[in-house]
Amino acid sequence: MSKVQNYDPDCLFCKIIQGDIPSDKVYEDEVCYAFRDINPQAPTHILVVPKTHVPSCAAVSADNAGLVAHIFTVIARIAADEGLENGWRVVSNVGPDGGQTVPHLHFHILGGKRLSGQMG
Ligand code: AMP
Ligand code: ZN
Repeated sequence: MSKVQNYDPDCLFCKIIQGDIPSDKVYEDEVCYAFRDINPQAPTHILVVPKTHVPSCAAVSADNAGLVAHIFTVIARIAADEGLENGWRVVSNVGPDGGQTVPHLHFHILGGKRLSGQMG
């Protein structure tokens, strides 16, 4: 099913979506792809990415906001499927100060423990 729009050959997550780099897939549809983080920061740590190469939240506009709206419905569904009924966190890092290391828009779902109160 995987097919990346605006594919960036230098982008790790474009390659993961395409299947050129292996990943532990959790969910996939026409719009987005979800997989387990290789370096989990919580018992559940899942990344949800659009199948369109968008660099970060800073590039979200009226033209692509529908991707984000859809992804948030998927995030809620994944959190429920993972059994995170006691709560969870969704995070998207932007740029160097935000701690973004992969320049393809992605949302971290973190849960399965009482998360740190630190936000920055
Ligand atoms: P960020 O630092 O917000 O850009 O998030 C990038 C995330 O991608 C980090 O949490 C990494 O652990 C994760 N990551 C890097 N390479 C892989 C990979 N090959 N498979 C799964 N997750 C990865
Ligand atoms: Zn990409």
